[in-house]
Amino acid sequence: LLHPERVVEVAVPVRLDRGEVVVFTGWRVHHNLARGPAKGGIRFHPALTAGEVVALAADMTLKTAVVDIPFGGGKGGVRCDPAALSLGELERLTRRYTVGIASLLGPDRDVPAPDVNTDERVMAWLQDTVDLLQGGAVPGVVTGKPLAVGGMRLHSGATASGVVRCVRAALSALGRPVAGQRVVVQGFGKVGRPLAFLLASAGCRVVAVADVAGATWNPAGLDVGALASHADRTGSVAGFAGGAALDPAELWAVEADVAVPAALEGAIDRSQAETLRARLVVEAANGPVTPAADEVLARRGVTVVPDILANAGGVTASYFEWAQNRQGYRWEEALVAERLGRTMDEAFQTVWVRAEDLGVSLRDAAGVVAVERVAAALEARGVF
Ligand code: NAD
Repeated sequence: LLHPERVVEVAVPVRLDRGEVVVFTGWRVHHNLARGPAKGGIRFHPALTAGEVVALAADMTLKTAVVDIPFGGGKGGVRCDPAALSLGELERLTRRYTVGIASLLGPDRDVPAPDVNTDERVMAWLQDTVDLLQGGAVPGVVTGKPLAVGGMRLHSGATASGVVRCVRAALSALGRPVAGQRVVVQGFGKVGRPLAFLLASAGCRVVAVADVAGATWNPAGLDVGALASHADRTGSVAGFAGGAALDPAELWAVEADVAVPAALEGAIDRSQAETLRARLVVEAANGPVTPAADEVLARRGVTVVPDILANAGGVTASYFEWAQNRQGYRWEEALVAERLGRTMDEAFQTVWVRAEDLGVSLRDAAGVVAVERVAAALEARGVF
């Protein structure tokens, strides 16, 4: 599990609108496919590196195993600045990249999905390019698509729903109620925004929210709907009239019961871990707690629900979309919600029980559960 099965680097030549051709670099990585086809997003980012894609693919091997869905770990992307590209350039880049990695793709081999700076529109271009190359529709070759081309209802909020499921399960396991819990959320994007709504509707008090431009705080609880309208108008949660301005550096020091980092990796470092007030951290983002901070939180008795468990609702929904495409049948919303909730609850209980049995952190227990499942698949295949 220390080494990826396959790392493919491709040149992605793109004709810019002004006529010049620029060659970008892209990758697709298969980390471990013992449990099923590679599952993992496509990221467009100016600082993307091969090493980062490999590390993210390894995380996907563990994440798919923790929630026990029949996929292996994959990841891909292109080093580019999507904000500097026109829509036409972005489409040409996506199609050229897809042509470059097409031999890897297929519903039984490798099923991409959106990630940072890619969305359902990018997935629709990817699907269309594969269909053109194959000379016909290939159901289930990509997930996170628009509904119009075989996407799934409830896909977009699935990561947030899974995080909230983990908040509920962790509070219950710790013997604490959900109602009235004071929650701090970092990030108000695709994950953080629906998360704040779901937490508020579960009866929590969302007392502080930060985004890249600033933070707002109200110990009585923020009106999340009004905050979202303010963010839509101004582009940030900063300056919200229903809360006091807060230095984002002070976010984790706010008096609270639960902290939910839903923005960046490395968001809670050693010194922030020392002053963090919450007794429960649920990692909605990937890698938000640094290893040094993890040690501090463990010493202080703060429970951390790790990313490979907490934010696995999105990949679980991707599995449901793939299954529906393969079945040729669209599940009802209630069925999707029920199955997502059950998958997350079962994964949480498995990890919680294993952590108690072994006397280790939830992060270590999630890693043990995941590695055991991948090892069982390798053994069943006769690899060991
Ligand atoms: P996004 O780009 O939609 O939103 C990111 C949010 O974080 C924005 O509100 C941004 O302003 C904020 N932010 C950025 N820098 C910040 C800073 N320094 N301080 C405070 N806030 C800051 O991204 P997203 O899709 O919501 O993803 C958030 C995290 O969740 C990432 O780590 C991502 O890898 C992880 N994740 C996302 C999904 C998904 O379904 N989108 C699934 C699994 C994991």
